[in-house]
Amino acid sequence: MNYIAEQYQTVKSALPSDITLVAVSKTHSADKIRQVYDLGQRIFAENKVQELVEKAPLLPKDIQWHLIGHLQTNKVKYIADFVDTIQSVDSEKLLLEINKHAGKHQRIIKVLLQVKIAEEDTKSGMEISETKELFLKWLQGSFPNVKIMGLMGMATFTDDEAQIEREFRFLKRLYDQLSLQHPLSVLSMGMSGDYPLAIACGANSVRIGSAIFGNRL
Ligand SMILES: *Cc1c(COP(=O)(O)O)cnc(C)c1O
Repeated sequence: MNYIAEQYQTVKSALPSDITLVAVSKTHSADKIRQVYDLGQRIFAENKVQELVEKAPLLPKDIQWHLIGHLQTNKVKYIADFVDTIQSVDSEKLLLEINKHAGKHQRIIKVLLQVKIAEEDTKSGMEISETKELFLKWLQGSFPNVKIMGLMGMATFTDDEAQIEREFRFLKRLYDQLSLQHPLSVLSMGMSGDYPLAIACGANSVRIGSAIFGNRL
C-alpha cells in the first residue's frame, strides 16, 4: 500500500463507526483524492471555492463535497448546484444567499453554523447569540432551501489540551441546547491534531486532512 492508503486506513480503523469522516483534500490533487475515493471514502472537503470548482468535475459524481472555509456571498453561485454541505455559515447574509441560490437550482443545501469557540484565535465563526438568533429564524421558516444540520467549530491552535477541551465542550453544550428546539445531527469538530479529544467531547463528525494526505505544501 502506498502512503496515502496506509494513512487513510490507519485513521479510518481508529475511528468509531458512528463518527463521520470528512476527508479534507484542500491543496491535494484530484489523483490523490481519487486514491482515497477508491478506498471507499465519499465525503471530501475543500476550503476554497475556486479549488472546489476546479476539482469536482475531475472526480466521481457520487462524492459529497463539503465547503469548510470562509465563503464570500458572491461566490455561492459557483457551488450551489452541486455542493452537499456548507460547514462554514458565519452570517445571516451568507445563509440568505445560499438559500437564494439553492432555490434557483430547486435544491435544499445542507449547512452547519460555524461558531467561534477559540478563546484566543480570531478564527471566524459566529458568537453564541448570533448563532441562536439565526437558528431561530431558520426554524421559523425564513430559509426554506437550506437545512441546518448542526454546528461546526475550530479550537484554538495550541498545545494546551485543557483549553481545547473547554472549547469543544462549550460547542457541545450549545449543540445540546439547540437540539432541544429542533433535532440536530451533525457536530463537526476536530482536525488531525485534536480529533480524538473532539470525539471524547461529543463530536460526531471530524475533518481530517494532513493525517490522511500528509502535510500540505
Ligand atoms: C484544513 C482544515 C481542516 C483539516 O486540517 P488538518 O489539520 O490538515 O487535519 C479542518 N477544518 C478546517 C476548517 C480546515 O480549514
